[in-house]
Amino acid sequence: MRSDNCGNHPMFRPPGEAESLILRVVDGCPSNTCSFCGMYKGVPYREYSTDAIREEIREAAAEWPGARRVFLADGDAMKLSADLLRLILTELGQALPRLIRVSLYANGSSILAKTPRELQELRELKLHTLYMGLESGDPTILASMHKGEAVPDMVLACQRAQACGLRMSIMILLGLGGRDRSSEHATATAQALNAMQPRLLSALRVVPVEGTTLAADVQAGRFNLLSEYGTVRELRDIVAALELERTVFRANHTSNILPLEGRFPKDRERLVSELEEELAAGALDRQGPGPMPLWL
Ligand code: SF4
Repeated sequence: MRSDNCGNHPMFRPPGEAESLILRVVDGCPSNTCSFCGMYKGVPYREYSTDAIREEIREAAAEWPGARRVFLADGDAMKLSADLLRLILTELGQALPRLIRVSLYANGSSILAKTPRELQELRELKLHTLYMGLESGDPTILASMHKGEAVPDMVLACQRAQACGLRMSIMILLGLGGRDRSSEHATATAQALNAMQPRLLSALRVVPVEGTTLAADVQAGRFNLLSEYGTVRELRDIVAALELERTVFRANHTSNILPLEGRFPKDRERLVSELEEELAAGALDRQGPGPMPLWL
């Protein structure tokens, strides 16, 4: 369910928020520079006024008074000031008596802009899961993709948020280093994740979305997509190197070649075995990326 009295561009939310009431409190993404991302291309970043947000909450509560979960859209709603987030969470709590949790997209910089005390206050007001794209632990890859976030900052942000009681859901992008940096991508990404210890981890495969810089680079031969075999091997290398103490793992997005899920640490060896079996089966394309999803 979604409240959409503001903005008319497509709405995005994580798969895990399918049951949530989606409330748009900003338009677009404040960075909007990532070469692989087409979610908010052409959408100017705009924070809604307090009055507009209050009105949206009032209308949403009238339509879905029993909502228990809310997702605040669009990209990086954590960029809003702590004061405005406090106001939104307070008003949501008052308008939705059955509310349990509120979640949003975040970036390392927007989390670190809040003090630990502010993060704790937001948690007390039912802010629950922050979805953050690490994408890669390799600074060279992040720079080439114009991610605009530093790996150490994202690691620290994850640690700080979880120390304040928030749940971090981290996304990584398989194949983001292409053929040239697959090994570096796997090693550095596992290292960053081990330092982060996120409660949730999702591995998606990079897909060149039409209209993005990455798609143009693929078209022009400047970026060599990892083969289907290489992508599964990369995930095997990442999973084998993960030392996670309490993480729910999913690689079952439409972009994934082999749907996988499990819990760390208990399922790590099973996940590695399943990936090894897939590699050994001989069915994966070693030259090209294999079939790409028609939609994400
Ligand atoms: S990946 Fe995230 S931070 Fe990068 S442009 Fe897309 S929404 Fe913004």
